Amino acid sequence: MPGKNLSRDEAQQRASLLSVHGYEVHLDVTSAPDADAATFRSTTTIRFSCTTPGAGSFADLLAPSVRAATLNGRRLDPAAVFDGARVALEGLEAENVLVVDADCAYSRTGEGLHRFTDPADGETYLYTHYEPAEARRVFANFEQPDLKAPYRFTVTAPAAWDVYSNAAEESVAEQDGAKVWRFLETKPISTYLTAVVAGPYHVARDHWSRELPDGSTLEIPLAATCRKSLAPHFDAEEIFEVTKQGLDFFHEEFQYPYPFGKYDQCFVPEYNIGAMENPGCVTFKEDFVFRSRVTEAAYENRANVVLHEMAHMWFGDLVTMKWWDDLWLKESFADFMGSFGQQEATKYQAAWVTFANQRKAWAYRQDQYPTTHPITADIRDVEDAKLNFDGITYAKGAAVLKQLVAYAGRDAFFEGARRYFQQHAFGNTVLGDLLEVLAVTSGRGGQAMAEWSAAWLQTAGVNSLTPQVTVDAEGRITELAIEQGGEVLRPHRIAVGLYDREADGALVRTARFELDVTGARSAVAEATGRPRPALILVNDDDLTYCKIRFDADSLATLRSSLGDIREPLARALAWSASWNMTRDGLLPARDYLDLVVRFAGSESDIGVLQTLHAQAKSALEVFADPGYRAEGGRLLAESALRELRDAAPGSDRQLAWARFLAATAQSEAEFQLLEGLLAGTARIDGLEVDQDLRWSLWIALAAAGRATVEQLDAELKRDHTASGSQKATQALAARPTAAAKAAAWSAVADSDQLPNAMVGAQTAGFQQAGQRELTAPYTARYFELLESIWAERSIEIAIRFVGGFFPRLQTDEATLAATDAWLTEHQQAAPALRRLVLECRDELARALRAQAADRG
Ligand SMILES: [Zn+2]
Repeated sequence: MPGKNLSRDEAQQRASLLSVHGYEVHLDVTSAPDADAATFRSTTTIRFSCTTPGAGSFADLLAPSVRAATLNGRRLDPAAVFDGARVALEGLEAENVLVVDADCAYSRTGEGLHRFTDPADGETYLYTHYEPAEARRVFANFEQPDLKAPYRFTVTAPAAWDVYSNAAEESVAEQDGAKVWRFLETKPISTYLTAVVAGPYHVARDHWSRELPDGSTLEIPLAATCRKSLAPHFDAEEIFEVTKQGLDFFHEEFQYPYPFGKYDQCFVPEYNIGAMENPGCVTFKEDFVFRSRVTEAAYENRANVVLHEMAHMWFGDLVTMKWWDDLWLKESFADFMGSFGQQEATKYQAAWVTFANQRKAWAYRQDQYPTTHPITADIRDVEDAKLNFDGITYAKGAAVLKQLVAYAGRDAFFEGARRYFQQHAFGNTVLGDLLEVLAVTSGRGGQAMAEWSAAWLQTAGVNSLTPQVTVDAEGRITELAIEQGGEVLRPHRIAVGLYDREADGALVRTARFELDVTGARSAVAEATGRPRPALILVNDDDLTYCKIRFDADSLATLRSSLGDIREPLARALAWSASWNMTRDGLLPARDYLDLVVRFAGSESDIGVLQTLHAQAKSALEVFADPGYRAEGGRLLAESALRELRDAAPGSDRQLAWARFLAATAQSEAEFQLLEGLLAGTARIDGLEVDQDLRWSLWIALAAAGRATVEQLDAELKRDHTASGSQKATQALAARPTAAAKAAAWSAVADSDQLPNAMVGAQTAGFQQAGQRELTAPYTARYFELLESIWAERSIEIAIRFVGGFFPRLQTDEATLAATDAWLTEHQQAAPALRRLVLECRDELARALRAQAADRG
């Protein structure tokens, strides 16, 4: 479709021409409960000025049809000016009024205005999600972050519904059996940040207030919503507690009062991402409403997301990047602040352990793809932008900010943030604007900040840091040096920890040296003369972003005693380093699995334990030599059963190991236990087999060919909910039959009607490690379809297809060759599509290297 993929050049040109005074948007969604109604009425009035009267420009709109449009009172012929993606505007005046009356489509892909019907009670729910450029699916606009404007939303909705938007409602009036919700004007915000949430949502309310330095009191009404059928599971008090702690914390640190009036947090169905920072109306995926038992790690993660989105009210919403090149300006900050705020202001004290172990693993993975990029990226168009919500922009950026805090100091960092808000409130910025304030507040000056930025923000890739140690005849260190590897060497502020055994066998830190590592080799002078320790841990305390390597003796200590490291963060770093070595083929996968089998049972951090479970499964499925899979799988399943039986009744660990047993079960006895737990004929003291755990068990049994369609249907009847429907779909797709695979494939490939969440369920079920032969025939079909799927589907669904069906479990040379052939023959394919395939290709090649290393 012409003009759908808005480019940076076009956006720059438009921003130099136009400035927007305001939008009035009227949406009529009274048709939403009627499943046959495909569209809703959207009428937009935009007032804007143009620096060059007589010039032409365009508005963005992705809609089935435009009924009527006028520019400055002049009627425009929709057939002539609207091509499905843009409304052409010719002959602009100095001051303009554009009115577009359109029929926009209800979405099933999570982009635009998503419509969902709750299977539990038949109720219909709507919400919007736009980032980076989908507001144009709901109303005509200038879809780019730097054309900020105030908005007035009016929504006509069924009478029984409530409607939420960025601003509070000004009035609600009955009209023709419906209700008209008129909202107050927003502050100037970007199109992608506007939001409407409508439906018979359950709501909990609270409020937060704070006295400001000028003696006035800031009052912020709080709301939290979810679907009615989830209300019994909704722990709004816990959400409000974290919300208030966050508001206290950010006001203290940022010294800029929350600018958007009220603070609603809406948990919505079939959400594509974790959450979105719409000012005053944050949307979250409803997996954060826990309907079954989850571990503490899930609560911690939710608190992190609540704080991440809240940090965006300042970084992102108050001050917004000019274009998507600087997406990191908001995402890296929010990601950092999510963990920082959690550690400083809430009861979740493992935030930095989780960050080191999970969040950074995402960054390390992404940063080693051939498609990696500097934190400040080169984003040519909105398709590029969509793909850049990645491990670099979020996790690496946040890790680098953590390094910046170590480099510039915490006070300088926050003082810089305060000045940045003051100087740029309601405006748009680029990297230089931030560096400018930090140069002043850190006292390091512009030159140093420019060098730091050049090294960390404007280059790609990860360094490895390896200790080199020499000892004398008495076992004393004669030299300890840190060798830096990688294409670009960077300045690192790091801590080096020396660890030795205590009487009880625990490995504890006996010395810590903090130093700047610059260049290829840096000596740790203070270590000279000390006895050689059992373990040398570089990047102790996780100050910098690097791959941690070990000297030979330290590696031997890890292999024999990783679980003996007493400090949780140091242990998490050791796990993380082991995983990176496995991925790099430096530690055979079977040795990594052996570490998990021996030491995961004593891992005290539940988030780390769950990460180990996921990584062990990957290690077995893709990194281990195929000849070792049966043996490795048996050992993992046996350890899962052993730890499950040993875990304290009712504990998080017990639940985690139960899920892991479901994920790894192999033997007849193990499967019989899963069946017994479902039937209630087997019991594990303290383990409640609740609905989500039941589905984990069913999916495992289905994949093993031990669940019939009738059994899965019966389970769905028992759990006739949104989540139940997704899990049942996944279980059906997981069955080891050619027919089940064909049905899953066809459901996604042959129809564009499947909603986003169901696409995810089908692809998750389709790919099973034990079914490589069944799914192998789909490799050729996958590559045949790639380009047409990319062209015809929404980008969200296309991304899910590319990643979900890539033959990632077919780890053989033939699949690698097929991938390379497609890449060679499709040099001209959409760059965003090529990027995704290149990343999948890289994982596959990495798997083959790791398998070779595992064969030894
Ligand atoms: Zn974010």
